Amino acid sequence: MTSTSSADADCLFCKIVAGHVPADVVASSERVIAFRDIAPQAPVHVLVVPKEHYGDVAVLAASDPALLAEVVALADEVAGELSDGQFRLIFNNGPHAGQSVFHVHGHVISGARLGWTPA
Ligand code: IMP
Repeated sequence: MTSTSSADADCLFCKIVAGHVPADVVASSERVIAFRDIAPQAPVHVLVVPKEHYGDVAVLAASDPALLAEVVALADEVAGELSDGQFRLIFNNGPHAGQSVFHVHGHVISGARLGWTPA
């Protein structure tokens, strides 16, 4: 598990939430924001991010499960608006799983027929 706090001055996604780093925002709600991944891996590749800082999805689920549900709801909204409503939602949890930004984010992957090659 990694950190929980309202904001982290060194966190890239906290800076995006604050508007200090530009991002291509496609949707937002009161507590969640969605912006396009800078290095897309699919026709639709959007990151869905709680505005409050939680280090990873396990911390978020333990701390505020309703907020995790809001992340999933915004992912569904984004896929409906940008694609056909079908999507894969990926949370890399920990560096060995591929997590590189330690502010929880769901990758919404959509817009194509997806294979299954996680390794
Ligand atoms: P992770 O590897 O699961 O932590 O995902 C981090 C994601 O953030 C990667 O897919 C990156 O391409 C993406 N990313 C890094 N910097 C930015 C940025 O400034 N804007 C949007 N996406 C970013």
